[in-house]
Amino acid sequence: MNSEKLSYRLETVTKYIPQDYKLADIGSDHAYLPCYVIQNGIVPWAVAGEVVEGPFQSARRQVEEEGLTDKISVRKGDGLEVIKKGEVDCITIAGMGGALIASILEKGKDKLEHVKRLILQPNISAISIRTWLLENGWGLIGEEIIEEDGKIYEILVAEKGKEKQAYHDDLEKGLLFGPFLLREHNPTFLKKWEGEKINWLTIAEKLEQASNTVENRKKKEELMKKIKMAEEVLEDEKD
Ligand code: SAM
Repeated sequence: MNSEKLSYRLETVTKYIPQDYKLADIGSDHAYLPCYVIQNGIVPWAVAGEVVEGPFQSARRQVEEEGLTDKISVRKGDGLEVIKKGEVDCITIAGMGGALIASILEKGKDKLEHVKRLILQPNISAISIRTWLLENGWGLIGEEIIEEDGKIYEILVAEKGKEKQAYHDDLEKGLLFGPFLLREHNPTFLKKWEGEKINWLTIAEKLEQASNTVENRKKKEELMKKIKMAEEVLEDEKD
């Protein structure tokens, strides 16, 4: 992979970046995504933010090699601390766990005032992001689920306001499965939740054999609730 040929996962993320928006890519590693969107004329200027020295240096090198130092500012720092208020219109955060992405947004809340769009690609626990968005006044405007190299990824796109609108009348299922993905009900979505259901059933069986503590009973109850929801979703016809 390089900035000319992005992974299908990152290319899918870039599809949701509006033309001419200024971008910050947080957790940018090699800065492949910012280089690609500049080279393809999608955005005029971008920040590549990285907290770890090694990936930060890789990002710097990549931007230099591509001759893009005047269009991409590579900055070292934790989450949104690398951007100034009002500096960018759009933020991408990809390839991390959902809880980490939500914590980056929470810590950097004050930087989001003028940001118009968030494009988030969690590797796991998209529910943490959907919950954060809902509680912080960001409405989902789209979602996509894709498979690459045997792994399934969700991409969440949000803008300010109308935070409950996408969920229609089922917030609990929507937060777990994704309101748009739930309605689209495509084969990748079904594959993901069939797999999760099998995982949960295995864990529930192990808990059954574990000691009968209050904590284990509570964990099992929560799992059984999720398994039931997954079964309902998998049986549902496409809307
Ligand atoms: N975004 C790229 C992608 O999707 O291919 C890189 C993903 S890589 C697995 C995650 C990157 O996020 C790592 O380089 C890591 O150092 C960086 N990262 C993790 N926490 C961060 C934080 N709080 N602020 C900035 N970068 C962070």
